[in-house]
Amino acid sequence: MTALPATLVDYPAGATASTGVVVHVEPLPDGRSAVVLDRTAFHPVDTAWPDQPADRGTLRVADAAPAEIVEAVVGATQGGELLLGRAVPVRTGTEGWTFVVAHVVEADGISVGDEVDIDVDADHRAALSRGHTACHLASLALDAALASAWRKEAPTDALGAPAFDALAIQESRILSDGSHDLYRIGKSLRRKGFDPAALDDPAALAAAVDERLAAWIAAGSDIRIERDGEALADRRTWVCTLPEGEVRIPCGGTHATSLAELGAVTTAFAVTAVDGGIELVMTTTAHPTDA
Ligand SMILES: [Zn+2]
Repeated sequence: MTALPATLVDYPAGATASTGVVVHVEPLPDGRSAVVLDRTAFHPVDTAWPDQPADRGTLRVADAAPAEIVEAVVGATQGGELLLGRAVPVRTGTEGWTFVVAHVVEADGISVGDEVDIDVDADHRAALSRGHTACHLASLALDAALASAWRKEAPTDALGAPAFDALAIQESRILSDGSHDLYRIGKSLRRKGFDPAALDDPAALAAAVDERLAAWIAAGSDIRIERDGEALADRRTWVCTLPEGEVRIPCGGTHATSLAELGAVTTAFAVTAVDGGIELVMTTTAHPTDA
């Protein structure tokens, strides 16, 4: 196989439709095909940190009927074999690798050189974007609410609070208008100075987080994505100005363009004892007014 170009992505700028040229078609063992384009508006699920699910939508060649994109994953190659999804052994952006968006379709008859239109389900995208923005805000509000639980100096988050979210996160899943974040508080977090007694009252924690979220959303700030380039693996940064200051978080996902789109954001917490520590689940929900 000849070297593939890195896929250029249009979704960071909010696009839900794009036109691209097929640069590779990988037949899959199950009979489906993974179609790689020179550029796409379709957000794939990331392999190394699969927080935001793939978009929904279709791929259409010229006058053919649109084919549903049943899955979209990150693919990577060092010039030889194209590895897809979980088979990719490196983080997106790793030096020496080229990263592409692989659109998986049932349709055959798609060939290199074909021009295709991508059409993303815009309502689904918007709901995921609100969910992802709510997730970032809630993690910052959680860090702030837990700041007094640290007995030692700890690494800090984008707002300067001890970085509970970054230090304890195990898994983050973006949902339509919300997210689930799973944290683990074990020996290593306690050794870093975190006092788990701060999690004894989940309802009080939710009230403290929600109060901060309400103040932030009332400010209604704009959100933007800054990027170093158009390629899938180019670094992108979520930028939002909160009353406390400008927040910058590395992020490859899609987002609301204003905090006003979220309507309101609320959280709920569940604490479970597990072997060697406790698990905390934060469920975040956005309540958009006109969605
Ligand atoms: Zn993110």
